[in-house]
Amino acid sequence: MSDALNLRIPGPTPVPADILEAVAHPMVNHRGREFAALISRVAERLKDWFQTSNDVLILSASGTGGLESAVVSTLSPGDKVLSVSIGAFGERFAAIADTYGGDVIPLQYEWGQAARAEDVRQALGEHPDVKAVLVTHNETSTGVTNPLEEIARVVRSQDPGARSQEPSRGSGRTDGGRSEPTPLLLVDAVSSLGAIPFEADGWGLDVVVTGSQKGWMVPPGLAFVSMSERAWQAYEQAKMPRFYLDLGRHRDALPKGQTPWTPAMSIFFGLDAALERMAEEGAERIFTRHASMGRMVREGVKALGLELLCQDERFASDTVTAIKCPEGIEVSALRNAMEDDYNVVLAGGQGKLQGKIFRIGHLGLVEEEDIRETMAALEQTLAKLGWTAGVRS
Ligand SMILES: *Cc1c(COP(=O)(O)O)cnc(C)c1O
Repeated sequence: MSDALNLRIPGPTPVPADILEAVAHPMVNHRGREFAALISRVAERLKDWFQTSNDVLILSASGTGGLESAVVSTLSPGDKVLSVSIGAFGERFAAIADTYGGDVIPLQYEWGQAARAEDVRQALGEHPDVKAVLVTHNETSTGVTNPLEEIARVVRSQDPGARSQEPSRGSGRTDGGRSEPTPLLLVDAVSSLGAIPFEADGWGLDVVVTGSQKGWMVPPGLAFVSMSERAWQAYEQAKMPRFYLDLGRHRDALPKGQTPWTPAMSIFFGLDAALERMAEEGAERIFTRHASMGRMVREGVKALGLELLCQDERFASDTVTAIKCPEGIEVSALRNAMEDDYNVVLAGGQGKLQGKIFRIGHLGLVEEEDIRETMAALEQTLAKLGWTAGVRS
C-alpha cells in the first residue's frame, strides 16, 4: 500500500471499491419496488449472520441509535436493568437505560477484563426482579470479548419459579406485576457481528444490535436490530417514550419492503453489495480470517515488547486490540506519526483510557498485508520516538 490509507480503527472500517461504487447508486423511490426488493434481500441475508429466524430490522442510525431502540422498545421507566459493563460501550448502554428512567444496577469490571457468568448469576440472585440484562459482546474500548454464550446461559437458566408463577411460554402477563419469567438479554454486538461466531437464537439472545460501519465494510449510517418473540411481548408493555426508534414501526413496515422513515438509501445499496461479497467469502472463512488477524496482531505487539490491555488470551478480541502505550511516549504523538509517515491510522483510548492506550482495529476488510504494514510502521515509529525499552535482541 502506498498512499492509500490503512484505516486501522475499529470502525468506520475500510470500504472495498466495489461497495463504494454500489453506494454511488442513483436514488430510487424509497416506497417503490426496487427498494422493496433490496430491503427484503438484505434483511433476509442478515438473518444468517445473526443466526436468527426473527426479522432483522434496519434503522437509519449509528450503532448507538440501535442500542437506544433496543432499550426504548422493550423497557419502561422504573424497570430494573442489570448492566454488565467492561468498558466505555458498556457504560454507554447503561447510560441510555438510565436516561429513559431505567433503574440501573451496575456490574462493572476493571477495563481490560471480561465479565464472568458466575457474577451475573449472583447479581440476578440478589435482584430477582431484574427486567433486562445489558451486555456488550465485544468491548471495542478495551479489546475484550465477553463470554456471551455463557452469560446468556446463566440469564436463560434463571429459575422461573423464583421469579414468577408463570412458566416461560405464553404472554405471562396476567398478574399486572413483574411477569417476565426470566430477564430479557439485550446485546450490543456492534463490533462483533459479521466478524466472529455469533448465534442470536441458539444462545437465547432477545435483542441484538450491530452497526454498518464495523464488520460489514459499509459506511456508517445503518443499525441492524433483531428482536426475539419474548422481546416483542415486552414491546407491547414497554412505556419508555419512543418514536423514531420505535422498533414496532420498523417491524410493521418491513413486510411492505419499507422503513417507517426515509432510509439512508446509499448505505442500503452498499450493504447489498457487502452481503453479496460476504456470502462469497463465506462465514467460516470470514471468522477464521478474523481469528488469525487477531492472533497476528497480538503476537506482533508482544514481539515488539509492548503490553496488551487484555492479559487473558481467552477473552482477547479478534476484531480490535488495545495496547498499553509505553512509558514516555504520547499516544497522540504516536498516532500522528503513524498517520503522517506511514498512512496507518490507529485509534486512541476512550474514557478513562484516553492517553493510556492505543487500539488497532482488525475487522471487516483486513488481510495479513494490512497487519504486516501496521506492525512494521509501529515498530519504526516507536524507534523514531526514542522508545527502546522493548527492543528485541
Ligand atoms: C461502534 C460501537 C458502538 C456504536 O457506536 P456508534 O458510533 O453509535 O455507531 C456501540 N458499541 C460498540 C461495542 C461499538 O464498537
